[in-house]
Amino acid sequence: MANTDYSFRQVLEIETCTNCQICANVCPAVTAAGDGELSAIYRIDGIRKILKSRSRLRKLFRASELSPDQWKRYSDTVFRCTLCGNCQEVCPVGINLKDLWLSLRQDLVHTDVHPKKLKRVRENLDNEHNVFGEDNEERIEWVEDMRDPPDDEFLKDKADVVYFTGCVASYFPVAQKIPMALAEIMTSSQVDFTLLGEDEWCCGFPLLGAGMPEALQGYIDHNLEVIRKKGAREIVFACPSCYQMWREYYPKTFEISHATQYLYRLIRQNRVSFKELPMTVTYHDPCDLGRGARVFDEPREVIQSIPGIRFVELAHNRENCQCCGGGGNLEMVDAKLTAGIAKRKVDEALSTGAQAIVTSCQQCVRTLLTYVRRNKVPLEVMDIVQLVRRALKRE
Ligand code: SF4
Ligand code: SF4
Repeated sequence: MANTDYSFRQVLEIETCTNCQICANVCPAVTAAGDGELSAIYRIDGIRKILKSRSRLRKLFRASELSPDQWKRYSDTVFRCTLCGNCQEVCPVGINLKDLWLSLRQDLVHTDVHPKKLKRVRENLDNEHNVFGEDNEERIEWVEDMRDPPDDEFLKDKADVVYFTGCVASYFPVAQKIPMALAEIMTSSQVDFTLLGEDEWCCGFPLLGAGMPEALQGYIDHNLEVIRKKGAREIVFACPSCYQMWREYYPKTFEISHATQYLYRLIRQNRVSFKELPMTVTYHDPCDLGRGARVFDEPREVIQSIPGIRFVELAHNRENCQCCGGGGNLEMVDAKLTAGIAKRKVDEALSTGAQAIVTSCQQCVRTLLTYVRRNKVPLEVMDIVQLVRRALKRE
């Protein structure tokens, strides 16, 4: 019983839903699964029923307790959502749906009707401070796989900038190419930067997605402390979810930039030299960077700064961009649905005639690349920092 998981504003907001169905029409989960029960409308209706069933005025509302089967069925739909925020973007009455989904997940955890697999997220973080439960000392093993790894492994006692790599880019082989590329660009632009190595802990985002935000503060305190010790002024993130966490949940102690913003700044300062790169590319706006942080222009400016690039937009772009399928811990709960959403994204990219789909998120790269490789689709998938690294003019 956890009505306290909802704020007063949220309880009022759900009563403003007009059942217009606009959110369902843009929901990637509903479309890919062909299942209206995954929509915001069904979910809001469920919250109403839950709140009424717990009310002291239950009899007046003629509301009965949900049966275990009803709870299970409802919970299955709640966690089959990528937290992409597309529903919130289009909701004409302005319901803050993304926050509502996080509160609902928290409620289902407190009520003990959440997918048990999600407990692994908390266990992995408690044990190893990264979402995969890997040895945290191996966070920067990717440095050894670089062509010319520096002796200091990009670890300095003090530096102007900290590059916070995030869990997915630290551990997933296909995503490790992203920190390799960004470290190479920052080195060639003579940025005084450091990694945190084993001192970097998960930003805490997976705890929110799993409905378990209670442990978050420990991660915030730890990460702030280790960055303070580096004497850094600024933190750079290639992961939109880490960036989003620092924007919304961490105190405003440091300047923070997503890699797309940072690269755009370096380019404007003439600190990046490009060679010609004749390619046609399209761009996928990661949900947390685009709809979440409203960073739409910088990635496009970066791509179009590269000579030889022909840039084509996806049919759904910027705030209307459709999710890749990799958000909200969905893959852990329903990998088939993730693949179904990824398929639609890949088809949309192919229809532009682009050779490559560029994004600025390691989770999008991982999700789309998995689909493309498994299905032998002739489309290159890469992060924007990989594109920039490919175009770097080397002396
Ligand atoms: S956040 Fe995205 S996946 Fe979840 S209900 Fe909204 S539109 Fe659908
Ligand atoms: S778009 Fe907003 S008002 Fe319309 S059904 Fe969805 S949540 Fe309700």
